[in-house]
Amino acid sequence: MAKLTILPQSCKGVDDCGICKFVCPQQLFQACREMNASGYYPPELTDPDECTGCRTCMLCCPDFAIIVEKGEKRTDYNSEDSHGSEP
Ligand code: SF4
Ligand code: SF4
Repeated sequence: MAKLTILPQSCKGVDDCGICKFVCPQQLFQACREMNASGYYPPELTDPDECTGCRTCMLCCPDFAIIVEKGEKRTDYNSEDSHGSEP
């Protein structure tokens, strides 16, 4: 099982970027309802249990806003600020 962490403050938003949504083979990404400090809506996973941990989203995100750790207990959304906070 994979642990996927999204750093919302680093994200340019699903509507303005959306690369993760485009590349995920499981089509797991959708825009969340909580706007980040820059006015963007970061992604969240529709069904975290379906994540295979392939890391495609992490490798394609231009802003390093996604972290995938294989073999870890999964989480679907991390509201931690990316500036200095530990997940
Ligand atoms: S690790 Fe793979 S399956 Fe999981 S959300 Fe990212 S692209 Fe989708
Ligand atoms: S690829 Fe990265 S910056 Fe783009 S919407 Fe997804 S998480 Fe945000």
